This record gives sequence, C-alpha cells and structure tokens, in this order.
Amino acid sequence: MAMNDSFNRKIDYLRISVTDRCNLRCLYCMPEEGVKRISHEEVLRYEEIIEIVKTAAELGIKKVRLTGGEPLVRPGLSGLISKIADIDGIESIALTTNGLLLPDMAEELANAGLNRVNISLDTLDPESYRRMSRVGRIEKVFEGIEAAVSAGLSPVKINTVIIRGFNDNEVLSMAEWALRNALNLRFIEFMPVNDSTFPFADGYLSSDEIRKTLLSGFPKMEGGLLEGNGPAECWKVPGRKGSLGVIEAVSHAFCGSCNRLRLTADGRMRPCLFSDKEINLLSVLRDPGDNKSELSALISHAVDLKPESHGNLKSEKHEGRFMYEIGG
Ligand code: SAM
Ligand code: SF4
Repeated sequence: MAMNDSFNRKIDYLRISVTDRCNLRCLYCMPEEGVKRISHEEVLRYEEIIEIVKTAAELGIKKVRLTGGEPLVRPGLSGLISKIADIDGIESIALTTNGLLLPDMAEELANAGLNRVNISLDTLDPESYRRMSRVGRIEKVFEGIEAAVSAGLSPVKINTVIIRGFNDNEVLSMAEWALRNALNLRFIEFMPVNDSTFPFADGYLSSDEIRKTLLSGFPKMEGGLLEGNGPAECWKVPGRKGSLGVIEAVSHAFCGSCNRLRLTADGRMRPCLFSDKEINLLSVLRDPGDNKSELSALISHAVDLKPESHGNLKSEKHEGRFMYEIGG
C-alpha cells in the first residue's frame, strides 16, 4: 500500500519524537530560560507508539526515525526498536541523537534492529561546544561516534547546525575532520522554528555561503542533489572517503520532495514541520474500545493536510512549538 498526499507526493517516512526531555540545552533549539515539560501521563507509551507505527505501516510508511528531545534519555529504547523492527512493512529504523549516551548504548541499539544513526555535533572545539549546547562535554560525542561506527550503524551521518558568530568559522575544519574519519557531514541551515530561541536574524547563515566556503577548501568536490537521500545536497571529494552536504530548508525549500509525517512525544501528528496544525492521536488511542479504524483515518487525514509548501520562513513569526518538542 502507498500513501500519496494531495500534491501527489509519496509519504513513506515517519519521524517519531519519543520524548521532549534532553540532556543538552542547545541555543538554537531551546529557550535560555528553560522549558515547560510535557507531563508524564501525556507522553505516548511505547505500546501506543507501536500501535501507531503498525497502523501507519499498513497505510504505506516504510521508514521510521526516532528523535526527540534526546531519544537516548528515555529508558527502554532498545525494546521499542526491536518491536518496531518486527512490524510488517517497516524497512528501516534510524535515530537522531546528540550522541552523548551512545558510547554505552550503540551496540545494544544495533542488536535491537537500529539501522542508521545521525549524530548532532556543531563544533570540534570543547569550549564552543559548551557555549552552543550550554551544558555538554564534547569528548562523549566523539566516543559516541566511534561506538556507532564500531556497531555498524552506517552510514554514520553528522548533523551540524551553523550559527553565525558561533561555529561559522569551522566549516572547513569540520569538513576536513569528517572526510578524514570517513563520515557523512551535513551542514544544516538554522531554521526559525520558535522565535524565543537564539535570534534567527543574528544566527542565520545561508547554505550558499556554506557552499562557497566548502568550495574554497575543496574545489574538486562533486555531486549535487542525491535521490533518496532526503532533502540534502551532497558532495564527494575525489580520493576521499565520507561526504559533505547541506540541508537548506530556509533558502531553498525542499517541500516538493517532502515524504514525511512527524509524531510528537504527546501523540500529535504534524503534517508539516513549519505549521502548528496537529492531529491528536493520543486521545483516540486512549478511548476505550477498538479504535484501529479511527486511528487509520486520522493518519490519512494528516497526510491530506500536508501543505504544498511552507511560507517564507524568514518573514513569518514563529510562536508555536520548539524544535526539541517536534524532533527536527
Ligand atoms: N537531541 C537529538 C539531536 O540533537 O540530534 C534529536 C533531536 S534534535 C531536535 C534533531 C536535530 O534538529 C538536531 O540535529 C538539531 O541540531 C536540529 N535542530 C534543532 N533546532 C534546530 C534549528 N532551530 N534549526 C535547525 N536545526 C535544528
Ligand atoms: Fe537537545 Fe537535540 Fe535540541 Fe540539542 S538539538 S537541545 S540535543 S533536542
């Protein structure tokens, strides 16, 4: 079975935020003054997530990504992964993590059925890491990357959000580090998801500028938009392993190839990252009785609600959920 939306895009990818909790406080993702937590009872239980994935898989979802908050802070994640891996129709399970807890967990996650991992790392400098994450120790992320590679969670991708004045001077050094370590590094444009994080106008650097800097250091890089690789432009450098890329949601909307739905930790299905329109699956799941067909109808409805594209992100106000609540 396949699911197409109103603009004939095939929707086969579900990103699931398993928690809004996090062991970091990245300046572009959370407000400085702290965050309001979803109450424990409102967070989807693992059995409920499995119910949703089963129903979504019957409709045509084939790929699942677990995210958060920080997914690895939620106890029992490997158990969830092995149950999702058993669902008919699910072909791949990926994880987006800040990597801090991977050193002890990578192998267990791989054994449970996790296929791939994206690790977020914005800098190679311990001091700058602390300024951007507000609390973290970078050594653990390096260990986490090694553990992911050893566990075979490949290809290991590194996500780097570039913020002007913080890490825009590290584009070339991070690129060189990634190629030396055979990693796939993607620079992500800072997205204005909620205006009470770091000011967008101060921090935003366009992918064109990032690309220009990359070309100055790696003039022979070659590639472009890769099919099946999500909304990333990717390059290889002849004679080097790994790859470089940019994800440019702000300057070049990739809505035309959007293939995804997002599920928040409190059970809301979001048709679009940049729209606060949400479908409440939690209340249906917790209604007594058999709610399977209603759940299926709501997921299909979320697909029907997908907009053709998001508006001009630079000029709109953004006052809804934060990225740590949606999962990126
Ligand atoms: N905690 C995990 C992590 O950091 O990888 C998973 C959740 S995090 C919200 C998912 C991704 O969103 C990370 O790669 C993070 O860097 C990115 N992200 C968060 N806020 C962002 C923003 N305002 N613009 C662009 N990317 C953002
Ligand atoms: Fe936490 Fe990830 Fe947001 Fe950083 S980007 S605060 S690690 S959820």
